[in-house]
Amino acid sequence: MPVVPHRHCIVCGKAIEPEKKFCSNECEETMKREQKRQRNFTLAMFGLLFILLLMMLLFSPR
Ligand SMILES: [Zn+2]
Repeated sequence: MPVVPHRHCIVCGKAIEPEKKFCSNECEETMKREQKRQRNFTLAMFGLLFILLLMMLLFSPR
């Protein structure tokens, strides 16, 4: 079986053309939503870390 250059949709894993990243608009939307969610999560973590640091500074014995 010859190996035709191809990629897989990074969302659902379906074989797609090499210049494409997603097999469909739905998969692209899914990825965009996921990236947004992850960015929000990262931002929330940074916020939490910042607050924690601030608390440590405020309540540290001197
Ligand atoms: Zn897909």
